[in-house]
Amino acid sequence: MPDKKIQEFERGHENFRSVKFKQNESRFKELSENGQDPKALFIGCSDSRVMPAMITGSQAGDLFIIRNIGNFVAPYQPDANYHATASAIEYAVSVLGLTDIIVCGHSHCGAIAALYKDIPKTDENIHTIKWLELGEGPKRVAMMSEHKNNKEALLRYTEKVSVIFQLENLLTYPAVKRRVDKGEVFLHGWYYDMKSGMIECYDDENYEFKPLAQETNKD
Ligand SMILES: [Zn+2]
Repeated sequence: MPDKKIQEFERGHENFRSVKFKQNESRFKELSENGQDPKALFIGCSDSRVMPAMITGSQAGDLFIIRNIGNFVAPYQPDANYHATASAIEYAVSVLGLTDIIVCGHSHCGAIAALYKDIPKTDENIHTIKWLELGEGPKRVAMMSEHKNNKEALLRYTEKVSVIFQLENLLTYPAVKRRVDKGEVFLHGWYYDMKSGMIECYDDENYEFKPLAQETNKD
């Protein structure tokens, strides 16, 4: 019964107000009075199993978050349509002045798996099918790899390649490209493995994903 599920959230909210909110009351007050000053833009998948705040140990005010199916970034399209992901990217760099953009893919991603399924177009999935076109490039690359005949390996590989494609799409945005060229904005390609709980970070000098902790320890 749907009501039962919602009741769980009601109880959860009560718990939040009486415990977490109380513990962090001064932080919430400060955030409401001074506005937000997040540390990074996080572009992740809508998948309910990926929890940006939890996997990064961040708190309210830390991450400006965009989530969509497959953590895709559509290339810059200055037209008259409504572009939710694009507007949030522009806002993050132009208005909030964020200097770091993280594109975080993840293992066992339904969007990536859907790239390998033959899904008939209907009036109930027309936007999803269009959106999934953003994974066609990564799929093409993955299909030419050694993982071609191993389904699970192929999916994991496509998920990772897709992160790199989305980073490249970010550079089609003038607001991002200008700042990246000037060394004012930095792009980060992450991959969250749901089974191990580990995040890997793309190293574009060595063309490989490395454990995030290792990346941080370098500094
Ligand atoms: Zn996903």
